[in-house]
Amino acid sequence: MTLRYLIIGSGPAGLRAAEEIRGLAPDGEIFMVSEDSRPPYYRYYLPDVVANTKGEDKLPIHPPEFYLEQRIGLVLGKRVTSVDTQAKSIALADGSSLAYDSLLIATGSFSRPGVWPGADLDGVVYLRHWDEMVDILDRLARSKRGVVAGGGLLGIELAWGFRARGLAVDWLIRDSRFWPQMMDAPASRILEEKVEAAGVSIRKDEEIKDILGVGGKVVAVRTARGEEIPAEVVGVAIGAVPSLQFLAGSDVKIDRGILVDEYLRSSVPDVYAAGDIAQIYDPVHGDYRVHTNWDNAERQGKVAGANMAGQSRKLEGGIDHNLMKLYEVPFVSMGLANPTGEGFDILTKEEPGTYRKLVLKDGRIVGAALVGDIKGQRAVHDLIVSQIDVSANRDHLLDPGFSIASLVPKPAAIKVG
Ligand SMILES: Cc1cc2nc3c(=O)[nH]c(=O)nc-3n(C[C@H](O)[C@H](O)[C@H](O)COP(=O)(O)OP(=O)(O)OC[C@H]3O[C@@H](n4cnc5c(N)ncnc54)[C@H](O)[C@@H]3O)c2cc1C
Repeated sequence: MTLRYLIIGSGPAGLRAAEEIRGLAPDGEIFMVSEDSRPPYYRYYLPDVVANTKGEDKLPIHPPEFYLEQRIGLVLGKRVTSVDTQAKSIALADGSSLAYDSLLIATGSFSRPGVWPGADLDGVVYLRHWDEMVDILDRLARSKRGVVAGGGLLGIELAWGFRARGLAVDWLIRDSRFWPQMMDAPASRILEEKVEAAGVSIRKDEEIKDILGVGGKVVAVRTARGEEIPAEVVGVAIGAVPSLQFLAGSDVKIDRGILVDEYLRSSVPDVYAAGDIAQIYDPVHGDYRVHTNWDNAERQGKVAGANMAGQSRKLEGGIDHNLMKLYEVPFVSMGLANPTGEGFDILTKEEPGTYRKLVLKDGRIVGAALVGDIKGQRAVHDLIVSQIDVSANRDHLLDPGFSIASLVPKPAAIKVG
C-alpha cells in the first residue's frame, strides 16, 4: 500500500523531513502544504537581501525541478485551518481537504503583531516571508526615515537593512542593550558599536507608545517617553508566536508549542512536529522548550522524517543554537549563554572586536556566546550536547592555541539525532 506523508509548512523542518522520507520511502506519496507562496527558501537570508548584501537569487534552497525529481508535491499559498486526527485529514482555507497516513506539523511561527494604536497603518512592516521582503524593499526605495522596534536579532537586522538602503534609522530597544536574553554586556556592545558606526541611532530603554498616521499612512512614531520620531516605515520585530491556532479543538497536546518526545512524536499517533513549533526536552535547561532557530529546525525535521518513514531515530540534546553574521561580524549563542543564578563558572576572553565566553557548570560546558571569532563553535555545541567533563582543560579552553575540537568525543558517542 502506498502511504501518504503530509507535511504542513515549507520551512527547513518541513523540507528536511520531506527529503529524509523520500530517501527512506521511495514509493511514498509526499505533499508539503504551505501558506508560503514560494518553494522552500533560506528565511535567514531575507534580512541580507533587504540590506543588499545578497541577491534574491540566493534565497531558494533548491531549484524548482528538485521537487519534481524528488516527487515532493508542493501545495503552496494554502492555509491549513484544522486537523482531524480521527479521520486523518487536514482542512484548508479554500474548503478542500487532504488525507494522510503520517502527518508532520512544521508550521513555525508568525511575527508577533504590535498592539499599539496605529499598528495597522500602511507602512508598519514585519519580516518573515519572501513576499513581505519584496514589500519592504519597495517601501524602502520610496522612504527617507524609518523606525525599528525590537532589541533582538531581527531588530538589529532590520535596523541594519533600513540603514543600508539609505534611510535615517532610529532603533528602539526596550532594554538597556541588544538581545540581553542571550548576550552579556561586552558581547552586546561589540554589535551595538557596529550598528552605530553605520549611522543607526540607538535608543535604549525606549519603546513605541503609538504610531501616528495621515490618510492611513505612517508619518511618525511616538515613544513611551513622549518623543515624536518622523518615519514613513516602521519595522516591527518584537518576537514570534507559534503557528498553532489551527490545532484548537484537536487532541494534539500543546503548551507553548506542540509537545513532542525525542522521536518528534506528538501526543497523537502518526502526528509529528518539528522546528519552531515543537516543544522538546532541553537537556541544558532540564525542561521542555521551543527552540526557534534554523539549525534545530533542520535537525528535528530530519529525525521526524526518518521516524515517519518507519525508522526509530532519537533526537537528543536539542539546545538553543543561534548563528548569525552582521556587518561582517559573526556571532553565536547557544545553551545557557547568559545564565542567572548560582553555580556557574564563567570564562571570558575579550579582545578588540572579539568576545568569547563559555559557561560551565560542574565541569561541563552548558552555554556559550562567541562574537567576532566563532572558531570551534560546532565543537562547543557538541560539548554542550554530550556533556563531557572538560574540567581538566578548564584553564586552556579559551587559549588561542588550544583545539577545543580535540575534546569532542568520537561521532558514535555524540548523542545528536
Ligand atoms: C527574518 C528572519 C531571520 C532569521 N535569521 C536566522 C538566523 O540567522 N539564524 C537562525 O538560526 N535562525 C534565524 N531565523 C529563525 C529561523 O528562520 C527559524 O527558526 C526557522 O525558519 C524555523 O523553521 P521551521 O521549519 O520550524 O518554520 P518556518 O521556517 O517558520 O516555516 C513554517 C512554514 O509553515 C507555514 N505555515 C504556518 N502556518 C500555516 C498554516 N496554518 N497552514 C499552512 N502553512 C502554514 C509558513 O508559511 C511557513 O512556510 C530567522 C527568522 C527570520 C524570520
